[in-house]
Amino acid sequence: RSTITDENKLWTSRVPYVLNNDLEINSKGVILRALDQFRLKSCIDFKPRDSEDYYISVKQCWSYIGRVFSNGQELSIGIGCGYIAIVEHEFLHALGFYHEQSRYDRDDYVTIQFENILEDYKSNFRIVGNNVSTTHGVPYDYLSVMHYGKDDFTNGKGSTIITKDSKFQNLIGQRVEMSANDVQELNLLYKCSSSVAFRMYCGFTDGTMCQMSNCSQSSNRWEMVKDVYGGPNSDHTNLPSQDAGYFMHASTRSGQEGDSAWLETKRMSLQRDCHVQCLQFYYYHNGSESDELNIWIREFQDNLDATGTLYLMGQITGNGKPTSHWTLHHVPLNATKQFQVEFEVRKGAGNSTGGFSIDDINLSELECPDGTWQINDFERLLNTTDTPALIYSPRQYSSEGYAYRVALKLYQSYFGVFVQLVSGVYDDQLQWPCQQRQFTVQMVDQNPNIQLQMSKQMSITTDPNLLTSSGVSTWGKPREVGSPIVDENNETIYVNTLSGRNNFASLEDIKSRDYLKGGSAIFIFSLQENVDVVLLMMIKIKSSIKE
Ligand SMILES: [Zn+2]
Repeated sequence: RSTITDENKLWTSRVPYVLNNDLEINSKGVILRALDQFRLKSCIDFKPRDSEDYYISVKQCWSYIGRVFSNGQELSIGIGCGYIAIVEHEFLHALGFYHEQSRYDRDDYVTIQFENILEDYKSNFRIVGNNVSTTHGVPYDYLSVMHYGKDDFTNGKGSTIITKDSKFQNLIGQRVEMSANDVQELNLLYKCSSSVAFRMYCGFTDGTMCQMSNCSQSSNRWEMVKDVYGGPNSDHTNLPSQDAGYFMHASTRSGQEGDSAWLETKRMSLQRDCHVQCLQFYYYHNGSESDELNIWIREFQDNLDATGTLYLMGQITGNGKPTSHWTLHHVPLNATKQFQVEFEVRKGAGNSTGGFSIDDINLSELECPDGTWQINDFERLLNTTDTPALIYSPRQYSSEGYAYRVALKLYQSYFGVFVQLVSGVYDDQLQWPCQQRQFTVQMVDQNPNIQLQMSKQMSITTDPNLLTSSGVSTWGKPREVGSPIVDENNETIYVNTLSGRNNFASLEDIKSRDYLKGGSAIFIFSLQENVDVVLLMMIKIKSSIKE
C-alpha cells in the first residue's frame, strides 16, 4: 500500500467516529475490536463523535481515502462485513491508504490481467503515481490487508492479479489482520513514536531484562537461563528452536518454605483513562504443587512515592499439575496511577525438583479475554481423530456470569469453531434469553510480541429470535432449553446447541505464522455486553455530568 502525501488530509488523534444505526450489532462489536488493534499497534486513538466537523461515519463496505469531507465522512462496513480485517482495511483507507496493488512500484511485483477484470472495476486497479502518494520506503507486501485477492473483480475469464513471485499467488488478499508492514507504514504516515495501548514486551531473548530487576531477601532468586533441568528445555520466544534464547527462572529446589524471589518491571504510567490493563505471559511450572507464582501490582501516589502499595492481582499454584509446555496466562489489572508489576515465586511445603519459569511478558491497556484454552497436541489431534470430531473447552464464565464453552469440529485438513451456552451457578440471577451479547473466539498468533500478532478471529452476536430445529431459543436458559451431559468433572450440566463456523481455518492456514508454536494451539475467548448498551451508558454519564 501507499498513502496520501497531502498532510491536510491526515486526521488528528483522537479520530471521532459514529456507528450508524443501520449497522448490524455484531459489526459494531467487531468495529470496536478493530479500533483496539489500532490503539495497540499505532498512536492513533478514536472517540465517539461529539460535535466535531470531521468524523468517520461507519455505514457499509467502502471508504474515501484520507480525511475528505466534513459533516461525516462515510465508511462502509455492512452486512457480511463483520470481519475485523475488513474493518481495518476500510479504516486504513479513511486514514489515508491506497490499495497495495496501486503502489507506483507494483509492476515489479504483480501483473494485472486487465482483460479479466469486470469493465466497471478496471479503475480500481490503476496505479497511484508518486506525485500524489508515497510508500514511506516500506517494501511491497503481498500479505498486506490492503492487497486485493487474485480473483477479485474477475469477469470469470481468470485471475485478475498474478504475483511475480509465484509462492504468493494464493496468499494475496489475506483478511486476517493488518500486517506488520501495514502497521509500520501507518506509524510512519502519522509520525507515531509510541502506541496508545501497548505498554511493554519483554522476551529476555538476548539476555537483557527490559529494565526489570530481580531482588530477594532469601537465597532464592529469579535467574536468567537458557534451559532448566526437568524443563523447559528452551525459551518460549524462539520455539521450536532449542537453546536459542533466555527466559527467567526461579528455583524452589532449595531454601525454606515461604522463601520468596521477586521480579519487578520498571515503573509505568498509564496513557488511557479506562483503567483496564491486561498482563499476559507464558509460564512453566515443575516444582512442588504448593509453590506459588503471585502476580502483584505496586501503585505509586506520585513521583516522590518510593514505596507504593502492593495489590495481589493473580496467583498460579502447582495444583498437582506440572506443565509439560510453556502455558499462556492472562491477568486482568486495574491500576489507576503509576505502577509496576511484580512476579513473586514463593516456595511451598514439600520437595521440589524445579520451580517456576516465565517468558514473553506483554502488557497492554486493553481488556483481557475471559478465558484461554491451550491444546498442546493440536496437529496430531487434527490428523488422527475420526472426522468430524468435536472437542470442548472447559466451562467458562463471562464477566456478567453467563457460562459457555467453545467447541472445535475437526475435519483433518480443516476445522470449525463453535460456541454454546451451558448451565452455570449464576443462571438464576441472569436475564434470559442471553441477548445481544457478543462471543469472540481468537486463535492466537503466538508471535511473542502482541504488537506483531495477526490472530484469526470470529465474532457472533446472540440473536434472541434465533430458534433451534425444535423451536426453542438458541440462547435460552440451558436448564430449560438445553440437554443434559456429563462434563469433564463428572458433573451433569445442560448445554444448548452450537453456533459458529464450520470452516474456521485449514491446517495449511495455521501452519503459516505462529498459530501452532511448539505444537500448541491457543484459543482465547470472551462473551461481552453489546456495545450499544455500553455506549448508551457512556452517553448517560456524559449528560449527567453536563447537568
Ligand atoms: Zn479497499
